[in-house]
Formats: sequence, C-alpha cells, structure tokens
Amino acid sequence: MMTPVIDWSTMSCALRHHITYRPDDAKLAERLRAESPAGEAWRCLRCGAYVPGDPYGYGPTDDAPTPTRGKALRQLIILRLLATLRFFEGLLEIAVGVTLIGLQSRVPDLIQRLREELPLLVPAAERIGWDIEKSWIARTLNDFADLDAGSYALIGTGITLLGVSKWAEAIGLWLAKRWGEYLAVIATSLFVPIEIRELLEGVTAFKVILFSINIAAVLWLIWAKRLFGFRGGKAAAEAEHEEAALINVEKAAVIPDSA
Ligand SMILES: [Zn+2]
Repeated sequence: MMTPVIDWSTMSCALRHHITYRPDDAKLAERLRAESPAGEAWRCLRCGAYVPGDPYGYGPTDDAPTPTRGKALRQLIILRLLATLRFFEGLLEIAVGVTLIGLQSRVPDLIQRLREELPLLVPAAERIGWDIEKSWIARTLNDFADLDAGSYALIGTGITLLGVSKWAEAIGLWLAKRWGEYLAVIATSLFVPIEIRELLEGVTAFKVILFSINIAAVLWLIWAKRLFGFRGGKAAAEAEHEEAALINVEKAAVIPDSA
C-alpha cells in the first residue's frame, strides 16, 4: 500500500479537535490511556496520537465515536471536491436556465444583438488563440437564433432541472451518501456520449479536462465506493469502515471475538 503524502487524519484533527474517548470497559480504557510527563493522555480515535488531558468524551464502549479516518477520510475529501465541482456546474446551469425562462420573449432580440457583437470580439479572441467564430458560443447562438419564446422557456426549464439534479448530486456526494454516489455515476455516465460528440466537434483543453474528470470520477466511484456490487459491494464497504475504526482495532485486542 502506498504511504499517503499527506496525513489527512492529522490534518483534520489540527483543523478541528482530537477525538479522545474513555470507554466504560476498564481494560479497553487502559489501552487507550497513557501516562505522560504532563499527566494522563488519551489516544485520539482519528489520528491515533496520545493527547494530554481529560478525554474529550466518555461512556459505553458501543457509543465510542468512529470518526472517518485514514483511507476513508481521503475518499471523503475526493467526494467533497467532486461535490464542489457539481455545485458550481449546477449553479451555472440554474442561472442560465432561470435567465432563459425570465427573459423568454426578449431572448430572440438578445441573441440577434450578441450575433452582431461577436465579430467585435474576434481580434481579442485571436490573441489568446481562440477562434470565437467557430466556438461553441457562436454555434449556440446560431442554433438558437430562430426559436420562439415558448421554446426558450422549455429549454430554460430543462437546463434548470439539469442544474437541480447537479445540486442533488453535490449534496449526496458531500454527505458521502450511497444514493449520491449512485446518482453521480449514473448522471455522469448519461452525459458521456454528449461529451464525446462535443470532443469530436473540436478538442479544447477545457473539454478534455472536464471529460477526464468525469470519466475518472465514474471509475473511481465504482471502484473505491464498491458500487453495483463491485469488490464485495455495500457490505464490504461498511465492513471496511468498521475495521478501520480505531476503537474496534483496540476492542479486538482486548475482547476475544465471540463470533
Ligand atoms: Zn487526533
């Protein structure tokens, strides 16, 4: 197993606080406790360090916190990065969708004006190596030039709903919910054919980056989160989390497995 460059558990503790706990089970408590020059110290259930002072919490062994740590914590960070990306994609789509609905009767006029203004931007765009007259902006303006107000409202509604579904994805991924992971894989996969068609029409760095992120996200979600029964599925994913919990590691050392 590769050693992580950054210890996210330690980082997480530094940003928040250590999670020390004194379980009622005396033998187990003794394993989590240490004497230090500063008095007693308790082992953090997230980063594993011994922290001087009273435990942060105490109570029944079964109520001991099982903070997300190690590999699961690294996965959570990736999920949240993906959630952030989906949030901003959704924000953009909802903004465009709502604007189309709101301005529906004025859109044809607006598109006409933009088509007239576009050639003025050509010199500036050329300087950054962007052929704006062949770009998706020009294509979109041409494609949408002859529609009526009702069509704009319909398209606006579609784009808004797309944005809302991205926000649902973002919430599910942020909270590391299994439905969120499934939603992300299915929704992202549905758009792969469209993204491929877009790439065939012209390759830009932006399209390649977005396409790569989406493909990597789908493959990673299926593999790491064991979706669709992959690598033992949900049961294996839950077992992995339980095994990784420090309290369970220590429990296993103290209490013989009755099963
Ligand atoms: Zn800690």
